[in-house]
Amino acid sequence: MSESDLFTAQRPTAQVFSGLSDDEMEMLSQADRFAKAELYPLSQRMDDEEWWPPSILPKIGANGYCGITAPESLGGAGLDLFTSGLVLQAFARWNHALALSWVAHENLCLHNVLRNASEEQKARYVPGMCRGELLGALGLTEPGAGSDALGAMRTTAVRDGDHYVLNGTKVYITNGPVADVLLVYAKTDKDLGSRGISAFLVDKEAPGFRVAQKLVKMGFRGSQTGELVFDNCRVPVANRIGEENTGVKVVMSGLDLERSMIAPLCLGIAERALELSIEYARTRRQFGQPISSFQMIQDKIATMYVGVESMRLFTYQTLRAVSALHDGDAGRGEIHKLTAASVMFAANTMNTVLDEAVQIHGGAGYIWESEINRLYRSIKLLEIGAGTTEVRKLIIAGELLRS
Ligand SMILES: Cc1cc2nc3c(=O)[nH]c(=O)nc-3n(C[C@H](O)[C@H](O)[C@H](O)COP(=O)(O)OP(=O)(O)OC[C@H]3O[C@@H](n4cnc5c(N)ncnc54)[C@H](O)[C@@H]3O)c2cc1C
Repeated sequence: MSESDLFTAQRPTAQVFSGLSDDEMEMLSQADRFAKAELYPLSQRMDDEEWWPPSILPKIGANGYCGITAPESLGGAGLDLFTSGLVLQAFARWNHALALSWVAHENLCLHNVLRNASEEQKARYVPGMCRGELLGALGLTEPGAGSDALGAMRTTAVRDGDHYVLNGTKVYITNGPVADVLLVYAKTDKDLGSRGISAFLVDKEAPGFRVAQKLVKMGFRGSQTGELVFDNCRVPVANRIGEENTGVKVVMSGLDLERSMIAPLCLGIAERALELSIEYARTRRQFGQPISSFQMIQDKIATMYVGVESMRLFTYQTLRAVSALHDGDAGRGEIHKLTAASVMFAANTMNTVLDEAVQIHGGAGYIWESEINRLYRSIKLLEIGAGTTEVRKLIIAGELLRS
């Protein structure tokens, strides 16, 4: 057993104390083994070349890791959001760029469709997404509408017979350059402000849709991120999700679930960073002894461990709460506050953990090609995507101070 395998084998101890059932433990272990065997070998090239492996999603689907929350009748696993979070955690340990693309497909797009689309729409899209043949994405952010995504949205959808005509630009869209189907938000009634938004399923072949550019990133490089243009893009009315002008509910509840699902991404990355750091501290020798014998290195490892275990508890607690929600319950109140707090804590703690990890690796951690460097470059996105740290604080304080 290699050093790395040894640490992996020790992980279950911590997971037992965090209240996973036998089935959940098994799912996490299975997903971990799959990710180590199939996703980890892709991670270096994805980072070096910003490469997207075209056959990976069908392989993930064939192994039962797409559509975790989809009913079995539509080709899914029929499990809950908590289990979906465990799969994400496992994927993030071994290939966080793929994990990000997976969660954009699985949660931002597919789970949102499951929660909000009609039976006919689900029958058209969900089976292909569960097989990993249709890659999903979600388009909310625009060049002028980031933190104020709803208020400042400029993309419009105007009804024209049995179609809508979409015009506008979406930016920073995960999977955008390679997606087959996109859940897109657009204003159907400008006078209603954020209440005048509707959600649409847009196929990549829709006339008037194009990928304007693929964006080059500092981290999560293999995950494809793009700017998308809708230029008189014709989308059938049959692809509108829900009633006209009800998109705000879809966005707000979806964002809470997205936040609860970003925290396991942070957890998986931090777990791997701790593992690599322990391994490095045991093998790297200075002054005639392993650096793990120095108390200042032990201090860092202890700090990282406390961070990882705190993240685990908060992440799992929040995912359990979100899994128990009824449709339509998210987007306000306790759960709105809790999901923002969970992802904020996970991202901030991950930042501390990764900082210590690179310090333990010394110069080796500063070299681009090293795995720990790749993990380190992932930090910032998790403090920005799915609502920035500042927005998360606004949500928490807003809920606490609401009279
Ligand atoms: C790699 C990547 C992937 C992404 N994937 C997707 C995706 O799949 N789909 C999608 O729709 N979007 C996606 N996003 C967009 C992401 O959600 C936005 O970047 C994020 O919401 C912030 O918006 P912004 O970048 O426009 O920053 P801005 O809103 O312009 O914020 C700039 C700064 O101002 C701060 N700020 C803004 N408002 C306030 C305020 N009221 N009080 C205090 N501070 C404030 C922010 O916190 C930030 O520090 C992705 C982004 C990245 C980088």
